[in-house]
Amino acid sequence: MMMSEALVAYSWQMSQWQDMQRLIDSGRLPHALLLAGPESIGKLRFAKALAAYLLCESPSQFAACGQCRSCHFQLDGSNPDYREISPDEGKRQIGIDQVRSLQRFSAQRAHRDGGRKLVVIYPAEAMNIFTANALLKTLEEPTSNTVLILISHSSSQLLATIRSRCVQFRFGIPDAGLVESWLKDYVGDQNLVKTLLAESGGRPLAAKKIFEEDGLALLQSFDSALSALFTGQKTPLNLADELLDKDILQVLDWWCTRLMDLSRHQLAAQSMVAKSWLEFTSVPPRFVMDTLQRGLELRSSFGRGVALNKRLVLEALFIEWMALCRRSAAR
Ligand SMILES: [Zn+2]
Repeated sequence: MMMSEALVAYSWQMSQWQDMQRLIDSGRLPHALLLAGPESIGKLRFAKALAAYLLCESPSQFAACGQCRSCHFQLDGSNPDYREISPDEGKRQIGIDQVRSLQRFSAQRAHRDGGRKLVVIYPAEAMNIFTANALLKTLEEPTSNTVLILISHSSSQLLATIRSRCVQFRFGIPDAGLVESWLKDYVGDQNLVKTLLAESGGRPLAAKKIFEEDGLALLQSFDSALSALFTGQKTPLNLADELLDKDILQVLDWWCTRLMDLSRHQLAAQSMVAKSWLEFTSVPPRFVMDTLQRGLELRSSFGRGVALNKRLVLEALFIEWMALCRRSAAR
């Protein structure tokens, strides 16, 4: 039988996987792990592979067997010793009930005799102060056989008390070579692979998503709309209106990625992904950085479900940006 993909970590995660295995092999597996790093690089897959490995009845040296009862449960999502907690459909935050059910789960015996129980929480920053405190109780009373895996795209947002109770594993932007060959299997064309990875800042799952959702066309439409603003064919209000029916996180991702790209171009002379943004190179780098910072904060607020007026937020962003552009051009 072919080993199911879902039960193994990605090829670019081997060094973290080996670090993890050393802990397991030496009997030092902590009861709370934090997998931290940028979004869309495969941390959830790593967590699932680790959970399957720890729950497997006869794991090989490197991975879950894929064939035992526990692995079958794991593959069809029915393992009674495994829980995944993430915000409910349409919500941005993890509910207190979800964490409470977790406390009951961690207090009960594992279904498999002498086995472990595994809990994956993602993203951990989707917990507010109440849910985080409830989770802390679970972390403070370690039931010896429950392993908590927290996933965070932005670990600086977590309560320090949560971070300090977890052993942290860092995941960075993965090796370009490994990611390119993985993506090429889906995409085929090597040049397209490079464009997709450039557009996604080297994050493989984001690149794959852009490909699947025809996202390149969307990004280009954002770029041309911004150019139209620059040349005066649109007003900031027009543009904000136009973008209202788009996913605000997607719009802010585009905005932040482009600003990051612009600042790398200015500070490190890297070539730019979107040529239309070359129009903005006269904006002083520190203002580009300020604008980026503002964009990242907004991205994070919307990501956490803070209620902000999309139209006003976008309009303000574009008005400020145009003011910067005009001031820079006038100097
Ligand atoms: Zn197995």
